[in-house]
Amino acid sequence: MTTEHVATMSEPMAQAYMEGRKTMTRRLMKIQPPSPDCKITTMIDTTAREERKYRDWNQWSIIDGLNITKQSGYFRCPYGQPGGYLRLLSTWAVDKEYDSFKPLGLPRSVLMWNHFMEFPKPKGFGKNRPGRFMPTWMRPQMPRTRITGIGVERVQEITDEDIISEGLNRQTIEDLVAPYAGRFKIKPEHWIHSEKGNSEEQYSYCKKCAEKEIRRLSKKYPEDKFELDGGWNTEGDGRPYCETCHAPLANSYTNYACEMECEHFEECPIDFKNPDSAEAWYSVLASEGWDGDDDIHKKIRRISFQGLWDYIHGPGAWEKNEWVWKIEVERNKV
Ligand SMILES: [Zn+2]
Repeated sequence: MTTEHVATMSEPMAQAYMEGRKTMTRRLMKIQPPSPDCKITTMIDTTAREERKYRDWNQWSIIDGLNITKQSGYFRCPYGQPGGYLRLLSTWAVDKEYDSFKPLGLPRSVLMWNHFMEFPKPKGFGKNRPGRFMPTWMRPQMPRTRITGIGVERVQEITDEDIISEGLNRQTIEDLVAPYAGRFKIKPEHWIHSEKGNSEEQYSYCKKCAEKEIRRLSKKYPEDKFELDGGWNTEGDGRPYCETCHAPLANSYTNYACEMECEHFEECPIDFKNPDSAEAWYSVLASEGWDGDDDIHKKIRRISFQGLWDYIHGPGAWEKNEWVWKIEVERNKV
């Protein structure tokens, strides 16, 4: 029996698959072309006995006439071939009484939880275990899908349609950036209203600083009357900050602000783990949304995929623009 081909998915991607939204996954190729001019060749069929074992093997090379001037080693797609099956794995856990057990030592009767399930890890379940360490006998409990296509391309070649087939949606990205954006406690925006039209009105404050400023101004200009204003969500071309303590203040972005943010992140790749970027991206999604066929939404989806790619593979991964296996699978029927 040949070994089963497996692909491990993160929690949001496992859920996207189960909901029938994910039909595609991209995986970095271990062997990258030795030089940028290399092309990939695949042994489709061979009759020579010695060569038959190289069927479905690939190689990066430059062929100049009959000469191979540059070549990589031979390699196969570690996820199998179209028509074959892919077993989907994820982080998993069993009852915490087995936390000291190695995977192979677990009793066969043990109940297992994983990210493809519709409910969060039940109470009493123990440590998270990596998908690739799931024992073979446990794997039939995991979803299995048919591979409908395998291709190779550079990660930046991804199209808008493929980003959607990868299972990304607004919720996925919001869940991803929220913990980083959340480090900033966003406070409502306030202003100081003056009866005489004092120039103080142009500044934004958090509530505490606004109240403090009112006390100061009232002493300085006793003939004027200052009042606290605001506290609701406004639309702006960027994030307002408290004039005194510089805390970020809540607002929603105008279309112009969203376009500016997109332009910025197309120039310098977004880092979801950076609180400023996470905050900005959260605001863009909240203000502009995700769905739509226009340029701004295509940009939002592409920047989101780029952010996810760097989130998984580390900062700079998108910029490297390496070659990936593009694996298409059958849609999960829900
Ligand atoms: Zn303040």
